[in-house]
This record gives sequence, C-alpha cells and structure tokens, in this order.
Amino acid sequence: MTKVRKPEIRVRVAPSPTGNLHIGNARTALFNWLFAKHHTGKLILRIEDTDLERSSLEFEKNILNGLEWLGLKWDEFYKQSERLDRYEKHLKKLLEEKKAFWCYHSKEELEAEKKEQTQKKEAPRHICEHKYMNHESGIMNQGAGIIRLKVDENSHRTVRFEDIIRGHVEFEQRVIGDLSLAKDLRTPLYNFAVVVDDHEMKISHVIRGEDHIANTPKQILIAEALGVSLPQFAHLPLILGEDRSKLSKRHGAVNFDEYIGAGYLPEALVNFLSLLGWSSKDGREILTKNEIIEQFSLEKVHKSGAIFDVKKLNWINSQYIKQFNDEGLTSLVMPFIEKYFGKQDKVFVLKLAPVFRERLEYLDQVKEFKYFFGEPEYEADILVWKKSDKEKTHKALESVLEILSSNLEWEIFDEKYIRSELDKLAEEKFGGDRGAVYWPLRVALTGEKFSPDPVEIARIIGKEKTLNRIQVALKKP
Ligand code: GLU
Repeated sequence: MTKVRKPEIRVRVAPSPTGNLHIGNARTALFNWLFAKHHTGKLILRIEDTDLERSSLEFEKNILNGLEWLGLKWDEFYKQSERLDRYEKHLKKLLEEKKAFWCYHSKEELEAEKKEQTQKKEAPRHICEHKYMNHESGIMNQGAGIIRLKVDENSHRTVRFEDIIRGHVEFEQRVIGDLSLAKDLRTPLYNFAVVVDDHEMKISHVIRGEDHIANTPKQILIAEALGVSLPQFAHLPLILGEDRSKLSKRHGAVNFDEYIGAGYLPEALVNFLSLLGWSSKDGREILTKNEIIEQFSLEKVHKSGAIFDVKKLNWINSQYIKQFNDEGLTSLVMPFIEKYFGKQDKVFVLKLAPVFRERLEYLDQVKEFKYFFGEPEYEADILVWKKSDKEKTHKALESVLEILSSNLEWEIFDEKYIRSELDKLAEEKFGGDRGAVYWPLRVALTGEKFSPDPVEIARIIGKEKTLNRIQVALKKP
C-alpha cells in the first residue's frame, strides 16, 4: 500500500506593527509556535504593515524582540508592505473577472449609512449599487474609489466552517455586504491581504484570537472569489481579567515589555502563557518547554475565556527562580540590583542568593531589599513591638547587642546557637514573648516591619554592620 504523505503543517504569526507586543499576541504567537513544534511544521512570521499610517518600524522591532526573548524562532519572514505586487495582481484579476468593483461612495456617505443601520439595530454592511454599473475599464479607478468584493445580498446561504476549537460556526451571507478589499490597487486591506498571503504562504492552520472570528466568513468569501483553498481555522479564547471582562490596562500590564522589564523569566512566561486556554494532560502547572510541545494539541484548547491571573504568573515565575543555583541567580539579579543600588561586589551578592531564591517572585523585587545595600532609615516608633514599650525595647536591644557582640565566631556564624540564645533571652526576660526580642532586632537591621529572618540578615551583612545598626537603634530617641 502506498503511504499518503501528510500535508505539511505551516502556521503563521501575523502581528500588525501598530503597537507594542501585547500579552494576547504573545499568547497567540506561542500557541502557533507550539503547534508547529509539536507537528515538526513551520512557523511563518508575517508583519501586517499595510496600514502605513498606523504602522511603525519601532513597533515592529518591539514585537520581534518580544518573540525572540520568549524563544519563539520562526522559519520564514515576510512583510506585507514588500508584497504589494502580489496583492495588485490578484486585485486586477478579481476586477477583470467582475468579482470585484470600484465603489465611489464617499466616507461621509458610508458613515451616514452605518449610523442609520446601527440606529435600526442592523449589522452594518454596505450594499453598493456601483457593482451593477459597468465601468468601461473595470480595473482602472475612475475617481476616488475603493475596491470591494461583490457579495450577493439576496443569497440565503450560510457561510460555514468547522473551527478546531469552537466547532461548527456559521454566518448568514446576507449580513456581510460588499466587503472592502483594498483602498486602491496597491493598498490592500486586512481581510484581502490575509487571504492572499495565507494562500501563497501555504498556511495549513490559522490559529488566532477569537476577536477575528467574524472576519473568517469574509475571508472565506474572498478565498472563494480568488479560487483558492482554505486553511483550517482555530480561534483561541479571549484573555480575560479577573473580573471576566476582556483583559485591558486596568487589569494590570498588557504590554509585554513590562513583564520583561520586571524580571520575569522567558521559560516561566512560556509556561504561564501556555496555560492561558490550554491545560496539560495531568493538570500539572509547571512544565518544561519540551513537555508542553509534546503534549500540545488544539483540540485541548478551551472554548471559554482564559483568566489572566498575575498571582499565578508570580507563583510560576518563583518556581523557575528556585531552580537556579547561587551563581546563576546572582547573574540574573545583578542588573536589577545595580539599577537600584549601583555597582556591587559579586561575592556579597552571592551571599544573598539563598534569600532571593526563597523570596523573589520576579527579579525587580530586589528593590525591596535595600537594607542589604545601605543603612536603613526608619522612625524610632516602629522599633517597638506591639505588645511591648520603649523601655522594654531598649532593654531587649541591649541584651541582643550583648549576645551578638560576645565572643561568637562570626566566621562560622552559628545561626542555630544564636537563635537559641535569643529564645532564652525572650524566655527569661520577656515572659516567653519572642516578638519582644526579634521585632526590634529586625527593625534595627532592616528599617522594615517585614523582612527575612533577622538572624539570617545578621549573618549576611556581617558582625560590624549588625552591631553598628543595633547601636544606631539604641541611640534613636
Ligand atoms: N494582523 C492581525 C492582528 O494583528 C492578524 C490577524 C490574523 O491572524 O489573521 O490582529
């Protein structure tokens, strides 16, 4: 028996460079990449920059940087602005075949029509009488017109497709109207350029956000007019904020750059984004890239919206941070530390690595550890533990100073021993209230109410600084 060769899987990421990389586009790009990788197919990156007024090279660069940072490599790269000849060729053909026509309605007329339809609660569409006019030279523009596809508004047809994620989807053809294809022969519009490209680039699957679902019947009609076959469609669920409305700025950062800047790790973001609308077989939430690739399938993508939960992202990121050894973590945090606290000694930062490993959710949080890099500043009041008073606080700090400055060997700082001494102090002089001892020590060392364990901090900053900070606290009014 002859083997039937499976058609090649070719998917595309098609960002419009009219803004910086958005978290939603990053998720769409990732799902395309995962699908391509799972099937050993190809990923095509296509910059949809036909809207010259709104597109910019700067946005394009930002998008490419973000995708590269995530580790999503593409196999082919195109820019629509470099393909105008292709669109022109197809537009001319459609005009010659009288499947497309020039519409000479002014912007104002079209807007007035749209307004009226919206008031009547009808779906906005333009049914253009110009399609019945037989212009002499069909392909030449006779004035300030745009090119539209002739769509029979009297048809009872429903345009249908089977979406891999959403199942059967259908739209009535009547409501579509004579949709616009291009502003002129060399200025194609979105739906038209996409169909030409998906065909010429041999795209097998269009995987994109659900917000494009209403464009799909239009693209099907265009493909039919061009006489080209259709890719399979898979529309990904929207990303929602925690209140279940469409994710927007008010829910937090939607700009991908902000996550890079805050020190999230690319592997953690890949892991987190992959779970926005998809889940692993056994429900595990920490998965390597290879595990995700291996398990990924569009059939397992959820239909309902995916909630963007920053707490979950932080948890996932902290799990990735924990996987680094001291050296690795030190190199990761160093740029963030130096951004806030200036040049630092690597040997010292190495000592902080265990604290960071335990506590950081994302790298920019190193800014909360300023007491490691300079003397703390605080009001004397906060030295006083809630169940204590000024006098007792003073007494506690004096005793702590005595314990710490006595002949302990700081070279081999024995945390266990020091803790037992401090506990004994609490027991003997403060009726077993450990807070009376540890709280003022914590504030003296950090200037903060919340921090890692003060004994650990003492070990890290060393004898001299520790004793000095307690003395400073004792002198506070
Ligand atoms: N350029 C479109 C966008 O950025 C892509 C649409 C599509 O994938 O067809 O939303």
